[in-house]
Amino acid sequence: MSEYRSMSEDEVRERTRALLEKIHPEKSDSVTFRRAQYDEGLAWIHFPEGYGGLNVSPKMNVVVLDEISKHSSVVYNDPPAGLIGIGMGAPVLLTYGSEELKKTLLPRIFSGEDIWCQMFSEPSAGSDVAGLATRAVRDGDEWVVNGQKVWTTVAHLSKWGMLVARTNPDVPKHDGLSYFLLDMESPGVDVRPLYQITGEAEFNEVFFNDVRIPHEYMFGKEGQGWRVAITTLMNERVAIGGAGPRKKGGGSISQLMKLWSEREKQNLSPGQEAVMRDRVSRLYIETELLRLTAQRARAAQKAGNPGPEGSVAKLAQADINKRLWETAVDILGSKGLSFEAGYELRQSAGVDASSTEAFAKYQFLRSRANSIEGGTSEIMRNILGERVLGLPGEPRVDKDVAWKDVPRS
Ligand SMILES: Cc1cc2nc3c(=O)[nH]c(=O)nc-3n(C[C@H](O)[C@H](O)[C@H](O)COP(=O)(O)OP(=O)(O)OC[C@H]3O[C@@H](n4cnc5c(N)ncnc54)[C@H](O)[C@@H]3O)c2cc1C
Repeated sequence: MSEYRSMSEDEVRERTRALLEKIHPEKSDSVTFRRAQYDEGLAWIHFPEGYGGLNVSPKMNVVVLDEISKHSSVVYNDPPAGLIGIGMGAPVLLTYGSEELKKTLLPRIFSGEDIWCQMFSEPSAGSDVAGLATRAVRDGDEWVVNGQKVWTTVAHLSKWGMLVARTNPDVPKHDGLSYFLLDMESPGVDVRPLYQITGEAEFNEVFFNDVRIPHEYMFGKEGQGWRVAITTLMNERVAIGGAGPRKKGGGSISQLMKLWSEREKQNLSPGQEAVMRDRVSRLYIETELLRLTAQRARAAQKAGNPGPEGSVAKLAQADINKRLWETAVDILGSKGLSFEAGYELRQSAGVDASSTEAFAKYQFLRSRANSIEGGTSEIMRNILGERVLGLPGEPRVDKDVAWKDVPRS
């Protein structure tokens, strides 16, 4: 693993200002600006030079954003639909992709031109994703894929999918997997929306019918898919756990504070008021602790390969976020019972953040998924127990059994 080179915060700020002199967000569109940001190594600053970075500590990513916001009223943040590519696809591509794929695809991920999705979970393989059944069979220079994935976020918008499939059913489950980059426009890929509690179809079912993938689109070697999948998942946990505010008091907690300051006081008895104040204060403290923990996890993140520590922030984020939006809805009282966005089924279209109340109700529903997506909180506890605290592992009865011989429903 490479060591980062040292670069002062002042130099990072200076380089960012130099970028803004060449091209300014107020006078360009998001794709053009973010492409230029990539070319200057200010996209993923911890990536190597020539791949959107400068090989300096990831702590400096926040400095770039801060400097841009100081000098521009327009800030092109990561596009929401692009988060899987930016947070997970890019590090995996950097670690395992061919030179040609890296050069072509990394700038397109950062600019938001290409959306990526992650196709791991299946109807019978979620927490136990290594038990998955989608089959890839070699045919000359290609692999032919048949099977089904589920809960695939933004598959309907994606150009590329990270796909884990079974290439050898005769060995234990972890050893028979391979990892592919799939062009989602390939013949035989069928994406069907699934609707969520928010009324949106943010994720999908994806069916593969004789889909062909060129062999050079395999990441890692045949049978090493689990190792590549772990790289993806560890990055996912750092990305989810670290998705909160970069600044003290920012993000969701600022919305809660706003609702609290605007509350209708007559709705609460003095006793209720005291209890609610306690909940809000406690959440403020916890959110700040989470922000600092996530900052530490990001700092520990080496290019492409964070460790299990990312699961700490992911686990805490799920719990705190749920309680935060529950508190918001409790502050709203009876007004919290309506749902302005409506339950009409629709594709995910971002949230209307202009009304704090409507936003809080949407987030109350959406945050239910926080303890499931990216690995459930129970699984995070298992990982932390086994891999960070060194506790004894769970019994794994299928560890040495060929996948095809493991009983399944
Ligand atoms: C909003 C959202 C977006 C998602 N996006 C994607 C995506 O883009 N790509 C993708 O591949 N997947 C995605 N997922 C799927 C997600 O990763 C799985 O739902 C998750 O890993 C759990 O798997 P499961 O749903 O099959 O539940 P199961 O694995 O069946 O788990 C059911 C319950 O059993 C518990 N459990 C299972 N095993 C253990 C154990 N060993 N010890 C203790 N408890 C256990 C679980 O914690 C859970 O409570 C998404 C899910 C959500 C909610």
